[in-house]
Amino acid sequence: MKKSGIEAGYEVVMGLEVHVELATQTKIFCGCEVAFGAPPNTQVCPVCLGMPGSLPVLNEKVVELALKAALALGCEISEISHQDRKNYFYPDLPKAYQISQNDAPIGKNGRLAIETADGERMIGITRLHIEEDAGKLIHDSSKGTLIDYNRGGVPLIEIVSEPDFRTAEEVKAYLLKLKSTLQYLGVSSCKMNEGAFRCDVNLSVRKVGDPQMGTRTEMKNLNSIAFIVKAIESEALRQIKLLESGDQVVQETRRWDPVKGISTAMRSKENAHDYRYFPDPDLATILLSHEMVNAAKATLPLLPDDYKRLFVLNDGIRPDVAEVLVSDKGLADYYRACAEQTAYKTVLANLLVTEVLRMADKAGDDETVIAIRPEAMVSLVALIGEERINLGIAKRVLSALWESDKRPVQIIDENDWWPLKDLASLEALAEMILKETPQILVDYHNGKTQAFGAFMGQMMKRSQGKADPALSESLFHEIAKRRL
Ligand SMILES: [Zn+2]
Repeated sequence: MKKSGIEAGYEVVMGLEVHVELATQTKIFCGCEVAFGAPPNTQVCPVCLGMPGSLPVLNEKVVELALKAALALGCEISEISHQDRKNYFYPDLPKAYQISQNDAPIGKNGRLAIETADGERMIGITRLHIEEDAGKLIHDSSKGTLIDYNRGGVPLIEIVSEPDFRTAEEVKAYLLKLKSTLQYLGVSSCKMNEGAFRCDVNLSVRKVGDPQMGTRTEMKNLNSIAFIVKAIESEALRQIKLLESGDQVVQETRRWDPVKGISTAMRSKENAHDYRYFPDPDLATILLSHEMVNAAKATLPLLPDDYKRLFVLNDGIRPDVAEVLVSDKGLADYYRACAEQTAYKTVLANLLVTEVLRMADKAGDDETVIAIRPEAMVSLVALIGEERINLGIAKRVLSALWESDKRPVQIIDENDWWPLKDLASLEALAEMILKETPQILVDYHNGKTQAFGAFMGQMMKRSQGKADPALSESLFHEIAKRRL
């Protein structure tokens, strides 16, 4: 969160646990399909329903995808790894234990670079392990609580970070980068609205300079980045208020209510030993030889940070702009499709991360889909680069392009949006404004620089945004000089 938003003297410390559904055809321990949106309880079998006597068989694809993700995040790979039972009872978990990994995860000690206001920072990744998802409880006011076991046994990776985050902005940057990294790898759709990418936030506060960590709370299953930012800000303030009034923070799991904008206590937080982890006797040890790890390494595609480097070095894009591009695979792919057709690469990149992203953002958290053909975007960028239209007009053309398949030039022609460059017309307009508002020149001659802004505002207003800014400016200075 912004420094101004935090009570003075406190520091927020956060670590994240991200659960990602892997893009397999079938579940982790059985042959049931995993396609999202099927009718409830139609993708189930004795194994994923936890029937007595059924036996799990590990889906090899899960290990392959988890290994790719661990390598892309710079993890050390465990050559010998196994799966453990995490014991707890909940109606969405018919076996009364979840198969996860405790002391021997697939990967550990990784990292991910993020761009912050102070430059690039490395976020430590403690571990990456595989596990099965639980079913889904549906609370229905008329029917009571219903259970859909389709999600039970869907393969997940859990990615646990170090407590390296201090602001909500850093959390957001990390989640976006992690999401696009996994999308580039093809290991997950990462669709947040389908629950394929969910985040738990562990958060504590402490006085600045205090080496001791404060007591932390955990907020579970946040599946929208906007909610995560709000949840962090609200929870940090709640804890600071408690401490300031002499109370203590209780270690607990909290549920964030995005509608009310508050979090409520769900249950007191268990410690790892409460789960009585032990190796699952039904599953074999996972062996990852050097050869397998090297073979997986050789298949890794270019990742967001590779593209970022290329955009900066080859295209002259600013690192912070390149970071925004590569943190959204849809946006980066679109940039690449356009960039190979234009010399105005920085104009293109800047337009994409500002106006275009703003227009596309209405769609939510998932990969940006841009409804404009790259060819049309390239000709719009050329018009800006050649200074044939200004940014104000470009924005109007963008909105029109979003709605129709016309060419930018055609849109400008039809709407008569070409900038007004005719000197005689511009001068007539300027003279009229200065005659109607003589105070502008008086103020300007008295050294009030904002008078020029007032003049330009009028020029734009009366020309419907078409007055050429550079010509208007030189005209103003000419007239001001004449009238001294
Ligand atoms: Zn099944």
